[in-house]
Amino acid sequence: MKVLKFGGTSVGSPSSIKEVANIVRNVEGQKTVVLSAMSGTTNSLHEISDHIINYREEEANDLIDQMIGKYVDVVDELLTEKTNQNEAIALISDRFEFIREHVGIEIPSTQIEKNIVAQGEILSTNLFHFHLKEIGASATLVSAFDFMAIDDANEPVISKITEAYGKIVAANEGIEIFVTQGYICLSHTGKIDNLKRGGSDYSASLIGAAILAEEIQIWTDIDGMHNNDPRFVENTFSLKELSFDEAAELAYFGAKILHPQSVIPARKANVPVLLKNTFEPKAPGTIIKNCEVPNGVRAIAAKDGITAIKIKSFRMLMAYGFLKGIFEVFEKYKTSIDMVTTSEVAVSVTIDDTTYLNEIIEELQEIGSVDVDTDLSIVCLAGDFSEQKTGLSTPIFNSLSNIPIRMISYGGSNYNVSLVISTVNKKEALVALNNGVF
Ligand code: ASP
Ligand code: MG
Repeated sequence: MKVLKFGGTSVGSPSSIKEVANIVRNVEGQKTVVLSAMSGTTNSLHEISDHIINYREEEANDLIDQMIGKYVDVVDELLTEKTNQNEAIALISDRFEFIREHVGIEIPSTQIEKNIVAQGEILSTNLFHFHLKEIGASATLVSAFDFMAIDDANEPVISKITEAYGKIVAANEGIEIFVTQGYICLSHTGKIDNLKRGGSDYSASLIGAAILAEEIQIWTDIDGMHNNDPRFVENTFSLKELSFDEAAELAYFGAKILHPQSVIPARKANVPVLLKNTFEPKAPGTIIKNCEVPNGVRAIAAKDGITAIKIKSFRMLMAYGFLKGIFEVFEKYKTSIDMVTTSEVAVSVTIDDTTYLNEIIEELQEIGSVDVDTDLSIVCLAGDFSEQKTGLSTPIFNSLSNIPIRMISYGGSNYNVSLVISTVNKKEALVALNNGVF
C-alpha cells in the first residue's frame, strides 16, 4: 500500500481533481488517497464559523449560499452522469445544512468551529470519489472518523489508528483506491476534531506509519523541497534526496511544503516520504528517507512571526533551577519554545504563539527583567554540522556580515544552525546566504 496525499490546490478545481485521478491511477498497486479541502474552503469555513459564533447570522447564511453555489458549479463541471450529479448535490446541501444548524446552538464555540471546518475535507473526498466512480476506478470512501483518533493531549493514538485502519483495509481486499479525509479526526471523547491547520500531511504520515506503507507521497504545487525559499531567492532548485532529520528541521523552521509534525510518524516507522508536484508530475520531486547526509549546508528555510524574550537576572550566575523556573512559565501557558540561547546572566528564548504573551511576561518578571522583541524571523540552515566537519560556520557568518543577528543556535542537533534576525532583513539574509554557502 502507498499513501498519496493531495493538498488544497491539487484538488482546487474540477480539472485538477481529474488530474489527481490520473496521477492516482498511474501509481501501481493498492493506495490510500488522503485529500485536503479544496483550496480556499477551510478559510471560508472558518469565516462562517466566526460569523455564527459572533451571532452574525445573515453574514453566515450569505457565505454558506455562496459556497453552495461554488460547489454546485464544481459538480456541473466534474461529473457527467445525472444520478451522480444529483447525489453529489444532495450531499452538498446536506453538509451545508449541517453547518447552518449551528446557528444559535448551545455548544462551546471551539466545537462549533471544529464541526464546521471538518466539512471541507468531507466535501472534497466525496466529490473525488464520485469522479472515480464515473471513470470506473475500483475505489472506496473511508471516513477518517472511523480510524483517526487523538487523545486528551491532542496526540494521535497510533495503536488505535493502526488497528482500525488495518481492519478497514483487510475488509476491502480487492479494492485499489481508498479515499479518505486528511486533517479531521475524532477527539478522545468522540467529538469532531482536527490535526490543526495544514494537518492533512500529518494525516498521511500517520496512516503511512500505521500500516507500514511502502511509501508516503505528498503531492502539492511545487516540485519538492527547495534548497532555499523560491519566493525570495532566484535560481533555487529542488533537492533530490533529504534525510528525515534535515526534512524535520526544515519543515519545523519554515519550509512551507511540509507540515512540521508530519515527518515524525514516517521517520519513526521508517517509511520514505516523496514530495511531488501535481502540476508537473514528471518532475522527480524530493525523497525524504533514512540516508547519509552529504557535507555542508544543504538547504535554507525561514520562519516569520517570531518573538524573542530575554530574561536577565544576576541570580542566574551559577544558580541551578533558574532555567527550570523559566521553562515552567512557558509550560503553564502551553507555549512551546523554538530556540534558546544563554549567557552568564541572561536567557533568550523564541516563541511563535503569542496568545499568552502578556501573562508569560508578567510571570517572568518575577524571575528577572524581561525584554521582548517582535517581528523576527528564524533562518534555519540544514545539513551536516557534526563536529568533525570544520569550517562550515565561516561562510555562514561571512555572508551575514551586514545583517544584525539577534540569536544564534549551533549544536542543538547535528543537522541545523539557526539564526534569529529581524524580518525586514530576511530577504537580504536568504540571498546573501544563498550566494555564500552554495
Ligand atoms: N484543509 C486544512 C487546512 O487548510 C488542512 C490541510 O489542507 O492540510 O489547513
Ligand atoms: Mg498543506
